[in-house]
Amino acid sequence: MFRLFRPDTEAVWKNPVIIERFSHYNGILRGKRAAKYLIVKKTPVSEANILDLPISDLWQIHRNTRYEFNELNQRITKGKLALEEIKHPSFSFLDLKVLLAKKMLQKCHFCERRCGVNRADQQLGVCRLANKSIVTSHFLHIGEEPPLVPSGTIFFTSCTFKCIFCQNWTISQEWGSVDNVKEGYFVSPIVLSKIMKNLSKEGAKNINWVGGDPTPNIHTVIESLVNFQENIIQLWNSNMYTSSEGMDLLLDIIDFWLPDLKFHEDTFAKEMTDVKNYWGIVTRNIKLAYDHSSREMIIRHLIMPGRVESDTFPILDWCAENVPLAFVNIMGQWRPEHKIHSNPQYESLARGVTSQEMDRARKYADKLGVHWREV
Ligand code: SF4
Repeated sequence: MFRLFRPDTEAVWKNPVIIERFSHYNGILRGKRAAKYLIVKKTPVSEANILDLPISDLWQIHRNTRYEFNELNQRITKGKLALEEIKHPSFSFLDLKVLLAKKMLQKCHFCERRCGVNRADQQLGVCRLANKSIVTSHFLHIGEEPPLVPSGTIFFTSCTFKCIFCQNWTISQEWGSVDNVKEGYFVSPIVLSKIMKNLSKEGAKNINWVGGDPTPNIHTVIESLVNFQENIIQLWNSNMYTSSEGMDLLLDIIDFWLPDLKFHEDTFAKEMTDVKNYWGIVTRNIKLAYDHSSREMIIRHLIMPGRVESDTFPILDWCAENVPLAFVNIMGQWRPEHKIHSNPQYESLARGVTSQEMDRARKYADKLGVHWREV
């Protein structure tokens, strides 16, 4: 059915730039490459009594194991070793990540808000989630960028941001509470792996983790992969306000990144989202993801009314300089929603983006050589 509505999703795979830049993604689609999490599952961790070790020791083991993972990944990618030839280790790199995520949950620092609450003991931080994740919907999404469609999208309830303009505010902010969930239902890692299996069977090109924001659910996502075996792309669709430790857990698992990059000025970002140090944290994470993902990434930049020169231009400058092979989706679908209309202070944002603003942004991207047309 999606082919009928989105012929561009097939045509895009005839574009040599996409084929060249998305070689890992395309390789998995054609069964020629293995999704990274499958290799993570086959990477052994040999230390004894690992369950009793403090978190600092576990991170050291994680750093050491990453070398082994990278080596295995390279041998498999170059065709020197087949995934099926490797025995399942008794304790894998993925098991280590599950263990670390559970420890992080006890003093939560999945995102850079670093609330430090014990979510395993039902304490709540800014995202107001305890240990269990809540999913609001999952389906084959046909509205994503052409190379991603149909995308097996799993929407989590709750977010690490509190955007005053959020178009999904009913699931990101006004979803109720853990005692009274109005949007979504609790899911275990086993249920998530079943959802992934169904999406994969229905023809999803990828598993698209999104929300709200997926970051508070890192522990559930990673554990869901223990009981999942399909060779399918793992895609992280996020505001990227993830902590550096949260990024460390994800970097070896995620095949394709779909990060947002909205603001250049931290004061404006704080006003819009309620988070500090937006620029430094989000660009740090995008760069990390880019360097760990064969550069396979689409950055989403939503143009905001009157903000082309102050945000869009410096964002495009940064992309051209730091992540030159990433595609940038220059998005014009800003709608003044949620709290924008009720606050006269945001009158300048209470309109759509003009075609002149879109033109200025696109011309600037062209001048810098940033690829945006394909996505
Ligand atoms: S995920 Fe972020 S916002 Fe939620 S409790 Fe953890 S540190 Fe706080």
